[in-house]
Amino acid sequence: MSFQNPVFIPGPTNIPESLRKACDMPTIDHRSPLFGQILHPARAGVRKILKSDSAEIFIFPSSGTGGWETAVTNTLSAGDKILAARNGMFSHRWIDLCQRHGLDVQIVDTPWGEGLPADRYEEILTADTNHEIKAVLATHNETATGVLSDIAAVRRALDAASHPAMLFVDGVSSIASVDFRFDEWGVDVAVTGSQKGFMLPAGLAIVGFSAKAMEATQTGTLPRTFFDVHDMRKGYANNAYPYTPAVGLMNGLNEACTMLLNEGLENVFARHRRIAEGVRAAVGAWGMELCAANPSVYSDTVSAIRTPDGFNATDIVTHAAEKYGVAFGVGLGEVAGKVFRIGHLGSLTDVMALSGIATAEMCMADLGLDIQLGSGVAAAQDYYRGQTAQEQRDAA
Ligand SMILES: *Cc1c(COP(=O)(O)O)cnc(C)c1O
Repeated sequence: MSFQNPVFIPGPTNIPESLRKACDMPTIDHRSPLFGQILHPARAGVRKILKSDSAEIFIFPSSGTGGWETAVTNTLSAGDKILAARNGMFSHRWIDLCQRHGLDVQIVDTPWGEGLPADRYEEILTADTNHEIKAVLATHNETATGVLSDIAAVRRALDAASHPAMLFVDGVSSIASVDFRFDEWGVDVAVTGSQKGFMLPAGLAIVGFSAKAMEATQTGTLPRTFFDVHDMRKGYANNAYPYTPAVGLMNGLNEACTMLLNEGLENVFARHRRIAEGVRAAVGAWGMELCAANPSVYSDTVSAIRTPDGFNATDIVTHAAEKYGVAFGVGLGEVAGKVFRIGHLGSLTDVMALSGIATAEMCMADLGLDIQLGSGVAAAQDYYRGQTAQEQRDAA
């Protein structure tokens, strides 16, 4: 492996130099106004990135998985019914977490490669006339399959059924990279981590709670200690945590929010869209297909690429690491060996993406796949050249 090459895994993502520096700081008193000068702006920055005026932001020393646990344990009680679709490894793992907490999960099995079935959600919620379902889980971006789902459609399903269930959204591989509208979509808990769109090392679970989710903390009886949002809220009021915060990472988060907001959220989203379109142009030029079933669910943060039958897609990832010192993502769960993944989120430019596309081509050619060297690179170059010219015209 090389420390120089960018990574093309869908998280952790490449860390910009300025964020590495922001994380590297001397020890300060983590129960002092000085820590407050990091904590409060970081929370305000996250709230803006969620496009929310009112979400209460909590940041735990943890990872995205801890964010799932925060959502569930603070608001629900053992035996509560929840509704979730399983369309990939991450939605599967969130369901597993809920089951281990004694929740009764109604699972809608959905083919891997498809988005969340909002129409099935609507039918199930409409049939639940006693309102036994307390929460609906939605994985915004299924990182295992490269599928982005329509959260507004899930909200419409809840509204069409006039159902009061809370809406919990896993935005770990979408937030800060693609559009996320906490208020407009009526999200009750949004979950992410530090090591994807926020371009930081792993180590923070970042969650937003709506007023309704905060209210549910009064009735939910699942045990919680480390992830108790009320303990956290009391800590924040005193510029502190109930325990020791990851101060350097928090400083990095504050800086990451500043970076993203200075670039402009819409520009960040457009950059992710452009880079992803170039990767997809390359995949098309290779004559290959995405795991994502159709363009309406293509993810702008990760592409899962199907390899021909009889070929082990994981070999590409192993070979890329061993021969070229470059990291791609393996297929997970049901699609293990059938897909490899190119992560294209976080701190990335067109030029960096071209190097990943070129490396993937070398690996596939080395391994005997029928790939014309340069074909994907040329397709992406064409796209980036034209797109950049268009964006410059639009800006002029
Ligand atoms: C990465 C990821 C997770 C898990 O987050 P961790 O930080 O590894 O705990 C959950 N959901 C999605 C969609 C992810 O991409």
